Amino acid sequence: MGSSISQCSTSDLDLESMESIDVNRISLSHKVVSLVPDFNSHDVDINTITAVFVAKLIEEAEKKHRSSEYGKYLKLLQRATQLGSACAAAKLGVVYSRGLDSTISPDYASAAAYYFLSLKLITLIPNTSWDITLLLDVVIGLTDLYRSKLDSRYDEDIINHGVKLMRLIDDRLQDLYFIRILNYKDVQQRRAIRIHINFCIALTAMAAGEVFESAMSFQECLVVGECGFAPADKLVESAQTNINILESSLPRIPPICVQCEYAPKNLKDIWKLVVCPQCKDVGCCGKDCLENHMSTKCVGSK
Ligand SMILES: [Zn+2]
Ligand SMILES: [Zn+2]
Repeated sequence: MGSSISQCSTSDLDLESMESIDVNRISLSHKVVSLVPDFNSHDVDINTITAVFVAKLIEEAEKKHRSSEYGKYLKLLQRATQLGSACAAAKLGVVYSRGLDSTISPDYASAAAYYFLSLKLITLIPNTSWDITLLLDVVIGLTDLYRSKLDSRYDEDIINHGVKLMRLIDDRLQDLYFIRILNYKDVQQRRAIRIHINFCIALTAMAAGEVFESAMSFQECLVVGECGFAPADKLVESAQTNINILESSLPRIPPICVQCEYAPKNLKDIWKLVVCPQCKDVGCCGKDCLENHMSTKCVGSK
């Protein structure tokens, strides 16, 4: 690995004289770059050099966006993403989610892919260096896709992949050491992120008819509680409404076979439980369990 900026430079991006970068002018905060370090490099300078270069790419990209040079804007963001910038990947997620003038039409699968890539890059960065604001932006973007843009009939693989990634992030957010180092704003943002993630998980489970999984994730949103970030606080309200809907959709017996303790996971199978015709209080998975129940534990007719 080389250790000069020219090692990173790229001719097809039409960047004006990268050699003239004023290094001191560029902030290297992870909040700007959110860059995955090259852990395997023996060159101590390479991470800093890449960070400077990527910060410059993103800065140039924003200039191109302001001057409506969208083709160049996209190329610069793509290159920053290729170099490991979670921030650039998230920006591409926004681009594909909303579309960009006449250059890009909305493409929700690509938007999800870029948001997922951003999450993957974030998981490669030690959580103590995470840009919490960026992470919140990504899950807000994903919530929009999960609520109204992705279709569980056609995009199930994408939706499930995102759920796996979001669960991973949610686990890392509950790391006690990580929580201890956060300031007040970060604590509130962390809560907002957990609400968004659990809401997406709940929606996915609800679409699959997995009532309990869904109710548990909506319940988790309530447990996290309001956090002062309006979009997340609205989700908490919506979580309660969804829990009420889910509860009203359940049969009025415990959703478990009283005899063998078989507990169906989805709503369709719950409704298949046979209600005991004598006590009317419990259900069974089938004829054998029902007969056993009626001849042994049943409290009798009412
Ligand atoms: Zn049974
Ligand atoms: Zn009974």
